[in-house]
Amino acid sequence: MIPFNKPYITGKEVHYIYDAVATGKISGNGKYTKLCQGYFQNRWGFKKTLLTTSCTDALEMCALLLDIKPGDEVIMPSYTFVSTAVAFIRQGAKIVFCDSRIDHPGIDEDAIEGLITKKTKAIVPVHYAGVACDMDKIMDIACRHGLFVVEDAAQAIDSYYTGISGLKRPLGSIGHLAAFSFHETKNIQCGEGGLLAINDDRFINRAEIIWEKGTNRAEFFRGEVNKYGWVDIGSSFLPSEITAAFLWAQLEELEGIQKRRIEIWNYYYSALQSWANEANFQLPYLPGFSTNNGHMFFLGCPSIESRTSLIKQLKENNISSVFHYLSLHKSPYYHDKHDNRDLPQCERYSDCLVRLPFFFEMIEKDIHNICSLIVHHKEK
Ligand SMILES: *Cc1c(COP(=O)(O)O)cnc(C)c1O
Repeated sequence: MIPFNKPYITGKEVHYIYDAVATGKISGNGKYTKLCQGYFQNRWGFKKTLLTTSCTDALEMCALLLDIKPGDEVIMPSYTFVSTAVAFIRQGAKIVFCDSRIDHPGIDEDAIEGLITKKTKAIVPVHYAGVACDMDKIMDIACRHGLFVVEDAAQAIDSYYTGISGLKRPLGSIGHLAAFSFHETKNIQCGEGGLLAINDDRFINRAEIIWEKGTNRAEFFRGEVNKYGWVDIGSSFLPSEITAAFLWAQLEELEGIQKRRIEIWNYYYSALQSWANEANFQLPYLPGFSTNNGHMFFLGCPSIESRTSLIKQLKENNISSVFHYLSLHKSPYYHDKHDNRDLPQCERYSDCLVRLPFFFEMIEKDIHNICSLIVHHKEK
């Protein structure tokens, strides 16, 4: 069976975990947390980063930092993972769902402005498959309407956006805040883990406090205050050193992991390109402003029936392919809270998108076999 995903282990993870255990500092914010946070700040220029136990947690921290209150509206794509919405819903926000682009499952940037009301507080673009949303457009809208932008960069590590300035900027460094995931299905992983990136100075102090259960413990450890106490709301958002040590082993191998994933992506693309054009299947689209970080490879099938039939035929040949997401605006939890606008592109991706096996250790022969089965499959 070729699995859909197989988390890559570099081999150094247990070594660093052993080291963390041996030094006796296992709770959060120790040596490995600092190594990881320093790496993110140096490599991608985020002003401040905080490791979290998941991307969901990082998004929850964003909702707290933005003081989201009942009645506030938050605009995001409906075609995304539940966490994007759940983090804001928990603060009582009304989620205003936006459609996807025709050429790509990411948010339709041109549909955002029409959704803004007096109550809108934030826009949450999701860089689906690590492909950048048009951040110049989104930041311009946010700026003109006085809104915050939180990048859901769960899938977007080491991907870049080049806007009108001509500067190539890392995803997650453009919005006021951004959240990354290190879940085992992502490029760099530690089982469960995440990162909050803070690009707006105003949030730095409070983020540290919210991260440490509402206390000013981080300041205390730096010797900036002589005792620490309860100063704000918060939770225990920081991971243990065991998680951070695992993640550090992955970060050391980032270049190699990224290089290989992009090779796999390119292999899929070239093997499927001419067939897809003829058979009317949609291939991933990379806008000129975005780089590719090799996060996933997907196909847009012409219909739900053709997708069901393709997944079934791949399965008969021991290949596991999956679909996602189910439109959030139609979900059991949210459908009756929504104004029932149609989001046709989102629904098309929900019905027709299929993700192909994608993991670091895939070998050429397997990718070749998968592509050959796809190219020769018959719609039943
Ligand atoms: C994976 C993912 C998340 C959630 O990440 P966790 O680390 O599992 O909490 C959120 N948003 C998107 C777009 C994702 O792909």
